[in-house]
Amino acid sequence: MKIKKGDLVQVIAGKDRGKQGRIIEAQPDERRVIVENLSVVKKHRRPRAMRDSSRMGQPQIQPGGVFDVASPVPVSNVMIVCPTCNRATRVGYEFRESKGRQVKYRVCKRADCGEVLDR
Ligand SMILES: [Zn+2]
Repeated sequence: MKIKKGDLVQVIAGKDRGKQGRIIEAQPDERRVIVENLSVVKKHRRPRAMRDSSRMGQPQIQPGGVFDVASPVPVSNVMIVCPTCNRATRVGYEFRESKGRQVKYRVCKRADCGEVLDR
């Protein structure tokens, strides 16, 4: 995948379109990514009794409630945000010399930018 953990991305489709966030998890097998604070679904959980004898005398209950859980979005719904020009862009690849070796870099596909995306 062209997008990996830690990347800043912008959502280009779906209900969160236009929002930005960091990738907190990449799932290459499913071609999905989890973006922080995005595509958040509410998970409801019931209070649960705990069987923990070390907590004798304390409430034996795990509190229930509503939890925000980020859900995976298809990687095709997001675009990487270029750290140089600050725009959502496609990802290109380019070989550049680094310490005497040819290293493959991800680069911004904007014609007037073309900067390396990885820092
Ligand atoms: Zn750029």
